[in-house]
Amino acid sequence: MIPGSFDYHRPASIDDAIGLMASLGDDAMIVAGGHSLIPMMKLRMALPEHLVDLQDVQSLKSISIQNSQIVLGAMVTQAELISSEELHEICPLLREAALQIADPQVRYVGTIGGNVANGDPANDMPAIMQALNASFVMVGPNGERSVAARDFYQGAYYTAREDGEILSSIHLDAPTSGHGSAYEKQKRKIGDYATAAAAVVLTMSGNTCATASIGLTNLSETPLWAEEASSILVGTTLDPDTIKAAATAAKAITNPAEDGRGPIEFRKHVAGIMVERAIAKAHSRAQ
Ligand code: FAD
Repeated sequence: MIPGSFDYHRPASIDDAIGLMASLGDDAMIVAGGHSLIPMMKLRMALPEHLVDLQDVQSLKSISIQNSQIVLGAMVTQAELISSEELHEICPLLREAALQIADPQVRYVGTIGGNVANGDPANDMPAIMQALNASFVMVGPNGERSVAARDFYQGAYYTAREDGEILSSIHLDAPTSGHGSAYEKQKRKIGDYATAAAAVVLTMSGNTCATASIGLTNLSETPLWAEEASSILVGTTLDPDTIKAAATAAKAITNPAEDGRGPIEFRKHVAGIMVERAIAKAHSRAQ
């Protein structure tokens, strides 16, 4: 449980961090909160020769909200997401999900950027970002580019981020005023990753569902945006049969691993229940 040796770098600006990543090459890794990376290093599943720590890069630490556009700096911690009243006001799903990550110690240090950049299908924020249709901005030696959260994840720990690129911020439009959202996560105990979890964001027009978006956590090698399940809800009154049909469609795209959280069929079954509960809760919160 002792990591291999490495050199430690602590740039003070994003340009310095990009320069370091370019000059150090493949043997360098970004460290943000370190709460995913350091355990991997202790297990010798990650063996970086250089760690580039973003702690001192102040430009990555802000939450900005302008005209319903939300920009989260990559180094914003889960605790900072939780404590922002302004953010909670317009996008309550973020606080609800962040409160279900690990425990307060982890949330004080773990960052939103590290959570989504990591590529671990068990992380909670990727499916939230897919449900909210967020985009990830990355900066590197060739400039800046943006990738939709729904296109970012390519396999377990494998993302669209290229070597040398740093995820600098997450951009999303606040859901429409009056929307309802919910994150339902089944876990074995406090601090555990999900056996299955579902995020739902929806809007109602009178008694009819006008828009819906469903994201799924830890049910495949990547987070999943359940497009068909989402569309089943639109144009309905969210009656019990429709909710069942959406849960069935969501379950159909899952491919969970059999692990300590249970066999495959059990985890799929729990996925369906999480989807049903999240839809019902989001519906009850929509105005
Ligand atoms: P780090 O560990 O520093 O980095 C993670 C990976 O992302 C590394 O590969 C790193 O190189 C890369 N990276 C980080 N930031 C950037 C960036 N800006 N640009 C490019 N690459 C970057 N998470 C959950 O979602 N749900 C849980 O229930 C949960 N439970 C946990 C329980 C425990 C006991 C612990 C220790 C962790 C748990 N986590 C959980 C993980 C935690 O939320 C991590 O903090 C988070 O996944 C990673 O964020 P970090 O800032 O610590 O990133």
